[in-house]
Order: sequence, then C-alpha cells, then structure tokens
Amino acid sequence: MNRDRSISPVSRPLAEAFAQRHRANTDHTKKHPPGLPMAAHLALAALLVWTCNALAQGTTATPPGASSMDVGAKPASDATRRFLRESTAGLPWDDREDFELVQRGFVAGIPGNKLLKDDGRLSRDLDIGAMYAGPAPETVNPSLWRNAQLHARSGLFKVTDRVYQVRGVELANMTAIVGDRGYVLIDTLTTTEAAKASLALIRSHLGERPVTGIIYTHSHVDHFGGAAGVITADEARQRGVPIVGPQGFTKEAISENVIAGPAMSRRASYAFGFLLALGPTGMVSDGIGPSFNRQGVAPGTVSLVPPTIEVTRTGQTMTIDGVEFEFQLAPNTEAPAEMTIYLPQLRVLDMAEIANGSLHNILTLRGAQIRDAKAWADALSESLRLFGSRTDTLIASHFWPRWGQAKIIDFLSAQRDMYEYLHDQSVRMMNTGSTGPEIAERLKLPPALASRWFNQGYYGTLSHDSKAVYQRYLGWYDGNPATLNALPPSEAGKRYVEAMGGADAVLAGGRKAIAAGDYRWASELLSRLVFAQPDNKAAQLALADSLEQQGYQATSSMWRSVFLSGAAELRAGGPRRQGFDSMSGTIPSLPLASILDLLSVRVAPERALSQPMDFALVLDGGKEAEHVEIRNGVLVHAPLGRDERSGNTLALSRAQFVAAITKAPGVAPPPEPAGAVLNQFLGIFEAPASGFGLVTPRE
Ligand SMILES: [Zn+2]
Repeated sequence: MNRDRSISPVSRPLAEAFAQRHRANTDHTKKHPPGLPMAAHLALAALLVWTCNALAQGTTATPPGASSMDVGAKPASDATRRFLRESTAGLPWDDREDFELVQRGFVAGIPGNKLLKDDGRLSRDLDIGAMYAGPAPETVNPSLWRNAQLHARSGLFKVTDRVYQVRGVELANMTAIVGDRGYVLIDTLTTTEAAKASLALIRSHLGERPVTGIIYTHSHVDHFGGAAGVITADEARQRGVPIVGPQGFTKEAISENVIAGPAMSRRASYAFGFLLALGPTGMVSDGIGPSFNRQGVAPGTVSLVPPTIEVTRTGQTMTIDGVEFEFQLAPNTEAPAEMTIYLPQLRVLDMAEIANGSLHNILTLRGAQIRDAKAWADALSESLRLFGSRTDTLIASHFWPRWGQAKIIDFLSAQRDMYEYLHDQSVRMMNTGSTGPEIAERLKLPPALASRWFNQGYYGTLSHDSKAVYQRYLGWYDGNPATLNALPPSEAGKRYVEAMGGADAVLAGGRKAIAAGDYRWASELLSRLVFAQPDNKAAQLALADSLEQQGYQATSSMWRSVFLSGAAELRAGGPRRQGFDSMSGTIPSLPLASILDLLSVRVAPERALSQPMDFALVLDGGKEAEHVEIRNGVLVHAPLGRDERSGNTLALSRAQFVAAITKAPGVAPPPEPAGAVLNQFLGIFEAPASGFGLVTPRE
C-alpha cells in the first residue's frame, strides 16, 4: 500500500466493465461470468474511497505555510540516545553490500529530479539524497536511517541483459524487459505522473519503442495505479497489448478497502505520516521505499487499467514480445492476489512483494484483513523449489536486485525462515497460553536471522506481526474473562484516574516515567488521563512527549510514523476534522447494487427505524433496478425480479440519483412525488467521519 494522496476519475472502460458485469450478474437468467464474482463491483469504491480520503487528509491537514511536524518537536532524550546506541550496536554495520547493490547498473536519473503534472505543477521532488548524507541524527533510529539512505537513490538501472528497473521515484519499482519490438513493463507505480516519467526515462536511454505488454505482480495500488501513464485500456485493446495480472486481481485491487474505507484512511494518515514533513523529526523513509516531502506539492493521479489476461495457476507460461514468462501464483501472502514471475531465457526471478529487504506486515497498521504468515513462508519455499536452481538474478517490486545464485538462495531461504519462525513460534507460545502482547514481548529471531539486514523490521515488526498471527487463529479476545467485557477507554480512563488519586497524580506519574525513559508506561498512564479528560492540555503534551521518543526509537517506518503523528496531533490540539464525502468521487462509476451496499453501512438506525420503506428503485427506465427495503434499522436490497415491478416504484435517471447522493450541482431534481420519496430515502444515511480521534477520544 502506498500513501500517495491521489485521486483520479476511474477510467471509462473500467467503469463500463463494472457496469456490464453487474448487469450480467443481476439478470437471473444468466450465470455469473467466470472469474467475475459479484463482489467485484465493490472494488472500485474501495480504492477510491481510500484515495479520496487520503487526498482530503493530505491536502487539508497542514495549515498553509506551516511545516506541521516541526511544531514543538523535541530532541532525543538521553534514554532514547542510549536505547538507539545499545539496540543497534549488534547490527552488521561492516556489511555494506546493500550500498553496492543499490547503485549497481545505474544509468541515469529523472531529468531535473522532479515529477511534474501535465499542467506543470510539481508533483514530487526526488532530490532528497542530500538530506541523508551524514550519519543518523539522534532523533532517527540508525538502522532506519540506513534504510532511508539506500532508498534515496533514484533513477534507471540496468539489472542484467534486457532487464532494467526504475527505482526510487515512488514507493515501488517499475521493471522494463526489453522485448523483440518494445518494452514489457512489470508493475506501473502508483501515479500516472511517475509512470510516464519513468517510461520516458527508459525510452530516452534505451530507445523510442512501444509498450508491448504489462504485467502486474499484485493487487496493491503502488503496483498498478500509474498504468494509464504508460498505456490506456483503449490503446492496449487497439494494439493487442496483453495486460497480465494474477487471478482475482481486479476484484482484490478494489475490494480490499471498500467497506472500511473511511476508518482505514484515517488510520492510514497515521501509518503513512500524512501530517508529517520529511526530516529528522518527521518522516525519513517509508521502509519499503523512499519517503518524499508532500508539503506544497500537487497530488498525483491514480488509475486502473484492468488486466486482460489472468494467470490462474502456478506453472502457467506465456510469451510476450519474444520474452518467455513462467508464473507462480502466491495468493494470500502479501496481497490476496499476487504472483511471482520467472524469465527462463534470462534466468531472472521477480519475487513481487513476497521477498523484500525488510520484514513485511502480517497486519498493516492502517488496518486490513489479516495476512497468512504460514502461506507466506510456504510461497517462498515453493519459489526456491521452482526457480532456485535456475535463477542468476533476483528482482522484486520494492528494494534493489540481488545477483548470484548462491546469494539469491541464501536471501530467499533466510526470508522464508523468518516468516516460518514468526508463525511457528507465535503459535507455539499461543499454545502454551501466551497472549498477543506476551508473545510480542518475547519473540526474538535467532541470531542467524536477526543479523541479516534484509530481515530488519523497517515496515512490519516482529511485535505487531506476532500479535497478528495470534489474531489470525484466536481473534481479539485473550481468553481472560476480566477483559471480555472491559470498559471502553473513556469510561476506564475516568475510573483509573480516580483510583490513582486524581489527574495531578496521574500526570506526575506519567512525567516521572518519562524522566526515567519508561515511555511505554508513560504513554499507558497518560493515555488513560487524556481519555478521561480530553481537555487536559498538560496531559496531552506529556503524552506527546512519551510518544515522540518511541517514534525516534522505532526501526519501523510505520511505527515511527504513527508515534510521531500521534504526538503532532496532541500538540496541535486534536485531530483535524474535515468535512468530506468519501463517496462523491466514486459513485458515478459504480453500479446501483454497489452504491446500495455502500449506503447500507451508513444507515443511522434512529432515523431508519421511524421510516420503514419498501420500493423498487429503477434507474434510466430499467437499465438498473433493485428492490430496496428499509426495515428494522437496516437497508436490504436485491435484484428486482420482472414480476416485482408493479409495487411502489422510485424511477429516476441515474444522473438524478447520483447527484442526489453526491450533492452534485447541475442536475435537475426529479419531479414530485419521486423527489419527496428520494429525500426520505436519503434522510436515513449519515456520512462517515474523516477526522475522528485516534490518540484522543473518538468523539
Ligand atoms: Zn508495494
């Protein structure tokens, strides 16, 4: 996942494809087209809800002219400096191989080191290398700083014969395979601006040749969002350019974030540091890629050009533009739809995002459905078995390549062992009665795995990943009846504060813990007070101090980001609340049933209970029609049968319906009585909140 605050209209062909699929699915006489489950029509919403909200966060969170993250930032404490010194002393600092690998084959950088939008506005300043020139500042974990230094090198690199990569212009990599006639691109970055500039860079050095194929390794936006910058769906169709993705790509590309979109995007604002600027007391790296300054830049454009060919089994082969490809499907690893790619003629293996220069997430901090550490380890074992003896060069969707069969096997094996160890030992401890926090505290990799740079937790951590393994098997309940029906945070906070002798005593205890460098305990205490007394500024500022030092100490870019984001919001006086309609950018592209699914999780029961409804919703004279009921505080809907069309009918144009929901101007409202019925229907919904409290009470 990527944190670009980007939004774009959905490509027209995609919207049409969704609409067509939906029409097919709602016709009772037809079977569902193969490979196109009903859930697919939700897909688009997810992506756009997420990006819409991200955009809202990114563009409004920082007051004009202010660099939010520097406000009130404090230096590293003695305890933090000592922690960083001691916790990183055992790392293999003499092993500088990554610094050779990352610059091997460098051809050239993006001209001017800037990404521009079509209208000339600056979209990204790539010129970040100078910031990382020296040793780690005291406010940054030296291991994360090293990761940031490595990611700060951007440009076009020759990997091996016929294989090139553009790296460091965004979170992920674009790979170009030189075919007989043109370029087969593997992954297309997040934004069209980045993809376009990367292809231009490739062409300016390797020749003005067409794109002859696109392969998406997996269903995350940092690997497909830029596609329209290198080819449109129309052009691909006209020129017969294959667009290849793993089975389930289109559905997963969008559905992973649909229903929970607003909550996820708010949490993502912490996990990816939307409030923070680039710098020693703010963002320094995104762990699996570089971090860029987002102050004063225009958001990029995200697109989706869906695959025309899905890879459905391991061992499937394909020849595109004279280049042979062999695929390994690896679903439910880092993404629900993901595959590795082997190029037998070139003895190159692309591990997608399954092997990385970091421990990855089993559960992301923005929130998502849980991943499977065991499936992840098994996929790496299969990669080794299928391709290990045939591979001389390894590339991936993030990080730099690795060369040499022995080194590649060593890398893949050590990554595999890490996920296997994480899974197996978490479960072993779980089965001796340990709970998530207890496992997280105890789980340490054995030295042979812990000493490898590529196994450091720059993105995922052993702590939250081991809790995720527990969660996958046993869920949120730790088995202790005392926690089964615990008081919610504000209620518990008030009682804790009273039991501990009042607010002043808790604040004093928190400050004492900070002075002792016991920041975890300080945060625990002070958070109780903040939730008990949301207006207690002294408590907020002290809590900010305790979080900030934990951010400085973190190896993980995500941990750093969430800790520093919490501190920044506490100092700034709570969450930045913006009015935002997460659906307005999405709805015009969605089929009716998808719109109703999204509306159903926005029902305000107190309004719905007093206004039961039962009607046929018919758009554009019957092009789309659903039977809608509001009953018992729920919205339920189903495709409208032909014999049901005689009851109450709300007949509208699609434009009218969409405009009513999105409050878009310029569309005449329907005549009465349809207008009144529509207003009654829309009156039961409540917009999701965009800036709810995370480090402060929710309301
Ligand atoms: Zn990625």
